[in-house]
Amino acid sequence: MLSERELKKYDRQMMIKDFGPEGQEKLKQAKVLIAGAGGLGSPISVYLAAAGVGRLTIVDCDTVSISNLNRQIMYGEKDVDRQKAQSAQETIAGLNSDIIVRGIAEKIAEENVDDLVGDNDLIVDAMDNVPTRLLINKVAIKKSIPVFHGAVYGFDGRVTTIIPGVTPCLRCLYPKIPPSSKFPVVGVAPAIIGCIQAAEVIKYIVGIGELLTGRILIYDGLKSRFLHIDVKRKTGCDACGHI
Ligand SMILES: [Zn+2]
Repeated sequence: MLSERELKKYDRQMMIKDFGPEGQEKLKQAKVLIAGAGGLGSPISVYLAAAGVGRLTIVDCDTVSISNLNRQIMYGEKDVDRQKAQSAQETIAGLNSDIIVRGIAEKIAEENVDDLVGDNDLIVDAMDNVPTRLLINKVAIKKSIPVFHGAVYGFDGRVTTIIPGVTPCLRCLYPKIPPSSKFPVVGVAPAIIGCIQAAEVIKYIVGIGELLTGRILIYDGLKSRFLHIDVKRKTGCDACGHI
């Protein structure tokens, strides 16, 4: 049940058509795993917390470095050298005391990914490398839960929502693993893409609107353009082909 305080806090979003206190209650009951607490994970965590998602788990094994601060807006200069998971937990807990937030300082790997996903209802993919994204993809397919995928490069980004067995999975979209190296990024790119991922999560939980399923939304920041590409499941995909 929503408290008096929560009814006040979320008043403006509950005014949205078909949202109401019922939608807010769904957000309160939701359990969300945010994989990565960097440029994407920052706005995702902040906006899901502000919207009242009841349980947030944020996983990141890194510490904050000075070169993160142009885009990782959960942290400030005082956080340099601190664990991101710990620092993120404090920032998010400070934004909304009506939710439960837990930061986990672990590297997502084959051995622990199943436990980390646990009983979460969905995963937000805020990673910066394809191998870890594919691990998340695999567990999401196994548990039949959605993945909200976002990626950025420079001024650009892309976002899509993956429903196992219905839409292409990440393996369908990334048949080859691109080499991972340091890449350029300006903070507004993950802010825009992360906010779209968070909007998708909120719509999915509340059950309103249309999702970015079966299509990728591409943001061309330098040209200020959004475009769509329709995508289909890959026949014989080694991750999702069996379902
Ligand atoms: Zn697939």
